[in-house]
Amino acid sequence: MREKDNKINHQNSFWLTAMVGVLLVGLGVFLYSTLEKASSQNPAAVETSKGEKEEKNPVPRELKMLAVGDIMLARKVGSLMNSRGVDYPFLKVEERLNGADITFGNLECAISKRGVPLPGKGIWFRASPEVTGKLKDSGFDILSIANNHAYDYDTYAFLDTMEYLRQEGIRHVGGGANLDFARDPVIMEVGDMGIGFLSYTEMADIFWSYQKPVMFQADTAEPGVAPYDVELILEDIKELRERVDTVVLSLHWGVEYSHRPTDKQRSEAYQFIDAGADLIIGHHPHVVQGLEVYNQGIIAYSLGNFIFDQNWSQATREGLMLGIRLNKLGIIDARLYPLIINDSQPNFQENQETKNLASKVRDFSRELGTELNLSQSPLYLSIPNLNIVNNNDG
Ligand SMILES: [Zn+2]
Repeated sequence: MREKDNKINHQNSFWLTAMVGVLLVGLGVFLYSTLEKASSQNPAAVETSKGEKEEKNPVPRELKMLAVGDIMLARKVGSLMNSRGVDYPFLKVEERLNGADITFGNLECAISKRGVPLPGKGIWFRASPEVTGKLKDSGFDILSIANNHAYDYDTYAFLDTMEYLRQEGIRHVGGGANLDFARDPVIMEVGDMGIGFLSYTEMADIFWSYQKPVMFQADTAEPGVAPYDVELILEDIKELRERVDTVVLSLHWGVEYSHRPTDKQRSEAYQFIDAGADLIIGHHPHVVQGLEVYNQGIIAYSLGNFIFDQNWSQATREGLMLGIRLNKLGIIDARLYPLIINDSQPNFQENQETKNLASKVRDFSRELGTELNLSQSPLYLSIPNLNIVNNNDG
């Protein structure tokens, strides 16, 4: 270049200017495209879980989150999916589940082709891997695997479950290759908001047969689920609190088929809220329980079943979907939508059954000291004057 430059005389200066001009324009285009690329990787412009691009300079936006209870895709639900198609259980709810930024549920089964039922357990749930794509299509972004069925078919089936979810881009929380991974929060980023999830289960520390004494709980070098241990949960909440805008705690807990949380559950829930949890999503009793507002936090003790084959009683055919609107400052409002499961297929149809369920949930919540508003059409329960956002602001 230098040799060439030395040969340039006045007559060539026009061409030099032209060449420099072309080079500068080229450099400009290159820099611009690089900056564009960088800005698309900026947290202010991250891709949402639904794949939409956010605005580059977003106005403080609102986020919609949905949560449901137990999803079990084996046993009778599995046979129905075989005979009626994998879509069958989701047909009447998938549109609504897809309408949120983040949709959460508790996956109450393993997903695998492998594994053997753990001896002595008595009830084992394992779904076919094809359900994973359907869970994703139906809108699920994150599923809890901290429960008393994820490990029914032993270690390899449990590891497969996480792998199948990962392949479909569904995040899983509450289980992992060791205890540290099982306790690891999942942080969902939508726009400039970070929502952190943690999940734990009771019954992780028991086994069913001395023939094969396998516990569900993860250990320092063993895969498994995150156990319900108050001290450990408090520690994880406090750490996560520093990193996100909203802390969501999923708990697989409580007394099966009971509509009431125990005093112990309630006092521990208060400790979790005081430690920094904004929302507790409970499941496992297979029936619904009330909702309680405590110290600016929301506790949904049990959302009941969502997809399950327990057709043998009205209470086990009932469930709730929790809808939360939130922004950077906190929760704006929370609603409970009653649902009925007909032949393993949930639906939100507004009829006498769902109306009765809504008033029952209002009564259960009243027993816990929380008064919910009942809207008849559309049918839902809400917390009146929920001003958590403003409270947090001060
Ligand atoms: Zn359970």
